[in-house]
Order: sequence, then C-alpha cells, then structure tokens
Amino acid sequence: MSRTKLPDIMQSRQVVVAGAGVAGLTAALALAARGFGVRIYERSPVLQEVGAGLQLSPNATRILDGLGVLDHVMPMAVRPEAVVLRDAATLIERARVPLGNHAERRWNAPYLVVHRADLQKALLTRVAQVPEITLATGTAVTSAAPRAGTLAISIEKDGTGSETEAELFVAADGVWSSNRRLVGPGERSRFSGELAWRTTIALDSEAGQQFEAIASTDCVTTFLHSGFHMVAYPVRAGSAINLVAFTPGKAIAEQWSGEADPDDLKRAMRGTAPALLRLVDVAGTWTIWPLHTVDASKPWTTERMALIGDAAHAMTPFAAQGAAMAIEDAYTLAAALASAAPLGEWEAARKQRVSKVARRGALNHLAWHAAGPVALARNLFLKTRSPQGLAADMDWLYGWTPPGWSDAEL
Ligand SMILES: Cc1cc2nc3c(=O)[nH]c(=O)nc-3n(C[C@H](O)[C@H](O)[C@H](O)COP(=O)(O)OP(=O)(O)OC[C@H]3O[C@@H](n4cnc5c(N)ncnc54)[C@H](O)[C@@H]3O)c2cc1C
Repeated sequence: MSRTKLPDIMQSRQVVVAGAGVAGLTAALALAARGFGVRIYERSPVLQEVGAGLQLSPNATRILDGLGVLDHVMPMAVRPEAVVLRDAATLIERARVPLGNHAERRWNAPYLVVHRADLQKALLTRVAQVPEITLATGTAVTSAAPRAGTLAISIEKDGTGSETEAELFVAADGVWSSNRRLVGPGERSRFSGELAWRTTIALDSEAGQQFEAIASTDCVTTFLHSGFHMVAYPVRAGSAINLVAFTPGKAIAEQWSGEADPDDLKRAMRGTAPALLRLVDVAGTWTIWPLHTVDASKPWTTERMALIGDAAHAMTPFAAQGAAMAIEDAYTLAAALASAAPLGEWEAARKQRVSKVARRGALNHLAWHAAGPVALARNLFLKTRSPQGLAADMDWLYGWTPPGWSDAEL
C-alpha cells in the first residue's frame, strides 16, 4: 500500500473507513458528498453473496435516495404492499399495516425489501462512480492511534502490516468489531440467546408454491407463535422469498451462516399449522445465524474516531432496523463531521434514537411470542386497531428525517 504525502488542506479532509458493509459504504458516500476524501478498507478479499433479506424502511430509503443509491437498489428490491401478522397455528390474519403507495405517501419514501447482497452491490456501484472514494479489499484495519494532530492507522493485507494516515477514522466493522476497543474498554458483543434460521426459496419451486398457498408473495408476513416467529418476504425482484425464523438456542460460532438441522427448528414449531411445517421441509437448506448484540450505552467516539452500525449497537432484528440504523448513523455522522460539531453530540443524539428502536424490537418480540391469555389479549387489541392506526404508530420510526434534512440537499 503506497503512502503519498498529501497537501495539508487535503490531508485535513481524509477519512479512513473500516468495513465495506452497509454502514461503511453509506458513510463513504455521505462523507464524499460533503467534501471528504475516503479510503475504505474491507477485510474480506471478496464481497461474497452471504446473507439473506433486509428490510429498508422509509427512514433509510430517503437517505439512500439522497446519496444516489436508490436507483441502483430498485431493480432488485421489492416494494411490499403490507406487513401482515398471522397466527402460525391457524394462519388467521391478526393485523395488517399498509405499505406500498400508502407508505410512500405517508412517509415520503418507499418501504423496500431486498437481499443484503443486492443492497451491497448497489452501494458498491454508486461508490465506484465517486472519485473521492477508494476501496481496498482483503485489507483489515488493525489499529488507529492519534499522532501529531492526525491518526496513524495500521492495516494488514496478506499477513503484512503497514501504516497509513488520516484525520478521522470510522469503524464500520460489524457486530464482531475488533476496532471497538479503540474507543472504549474492549466491549465484546453478547449472544442474545436467539438463533435466526434462514433460507431463500425460488417462487417457481415446490417450496414457492407451498408458500403461496399460505401467504401473499407481495407482503412482509410474520407468523406468530409462543416458541418462535417466522418472517417471510420477497427478494431478488420478487423471484424468491426470504424466510427467517427466530427460536431460542445455544451459542454457536460467530458467523453469518452456520450449519442447521431443520428438525431442531420443527421442534420449536410444535403446534404450528401443518402447511407451515411442510414449508420448512421443502424449503431446502437452512442456515443458522446466532444473534449477537452490542451494548449501545458504551462509548462510540473519541475526538477523531467513531463507531457506526453494528460495531456500535448491533441489536436483535425484531424491529427490522439493523441496516436502517447503520444508514442513519452513516449519514448523520458525515453531517456532524462536516459541521465540525463535537462527536459527543452526535453520539448522544444517535444513542437516544437507537435505544428507542431497540426497545421497540424487544416489545415486538414479547408480543409475537405471547402465549395463552396474553396472546388472546394481544389479538383482541390488534382487532381494535385500524390498518391506518397501526401505520400511524410507526410515524416516529419511518417518518424520521436527519436533523436539518432537505430533500434538495445532496
Ligand atoms: C456476511 C453478512 C451477512 C449478513 N446477513 C444479514 C441478513 O441476512 N439479514 C440481516 O438483517 N442482516 C444481515 N447482516 C447484518 C446487516 O448487514 C447489518 O446488521 C447491518 O446492515 C449493519 O451493517 P454494518 O455495515 O454495520 O455491518 P456488516 O454488514 O456486518 O459489515 C461489516 C463489514 O466490516 C468488515 N470488517 C470486519 N472487520 C474488519 C476490519 N478489521 N477491517 C476492515 N473490515 C472489516 C466485514 O468483513 C464486513 O464486510 C449480515 C452481515 C454480514 C457481514
């Protein structure tokens, strides 16, 4: 890796970003839009198609639009018509939150579902169009330390270490971040006690037909049950359905796709409608993802460094906001750095928002896994709510705009 000495004025605008996930790539685009030069280092030699579906609510898609990414996302994304809650035992619909045109009118941006790999590809396509950003894959950031008014940043490629310089460092290195220790006391992520079981089925397969018999292919459907819940929605331009089921489980290796035995999943689904159990059988290979969280109350910043996305606050996905929070972090951090506001102010504001979202996720989990009389009370409550009323409950989350946001800003 060559090190060129830049003129002082440019040197002062250089930022290093660790990680080319959703947070790191969005941060690079937001920073470049505000005049920073950005070098992204990504540990993986190849950005593989690992992962499955992600939900992108309007609070995130309006930012992606502002950064010129949404046009690249749209061809592979799906705009679902509604979020539907169904009883997993009876398949009865319990609630419906309208999305589609309704979401776009209500929150001024689309609600989308997309495969993680398609979102990453869209971000990479946009990054390649911006000359102020460079991306080096197969290169890990291993450390960063203040030195004479700047930062000395250690990187490693093919087992060989070298050093580079920047004024600012953004660690977007995910839930198992090794750079988190640079801003605080080496806090590790914690296993949440939940496993996510994932698979993707082609719509024109036997599994696709089985799915169509029990739920709509143009909605986000959540099946409710005391022992698990399952979320299903279309991805890959509607040609496939992403299935993800959440059960309690034991910690496994820290990875995105471990081996899974579907019989364990079916045990957790005892009492479920036979059609849903059959779907598990015909769906093909399931992988398991152990859900880890990061205590968001720990420090995220120093004078010249910031953690964003899962590195700062990985949360359980029960509010479907992991990617959206990473996108919000990235955009707001770039604005804070451009205005030279103390990073502590940005951190305090983001912590408030992120902890409210995490609390909403915990509430969803409680409601979706309710049993006996509590489940009956939940169902009665949902019956009293109109679809529009349920949508209005989400205004604080999906209607959010970054401070000082203007649609014409970028
Ligand atoms: C492979 C993968 C699959 C995923 N699948 C799903 C999914 O199906 N559904 C879902 O809801 N969420 C998924 N997620 C998580 C989701 O992407 C995040 O919750 C959210 O988008 C926030 O992303 P992030 O950029 O903070 O972290 P991540 O998306 O985890 O990105 C972090 C990036 O940093 C890189 N990195 C790690 N250490 C270093 C280092 N020292 N130096 C440089 N680079 C480093 C990693 O290789 C990775 O590319 C997945 C994440 C990954 C990495």
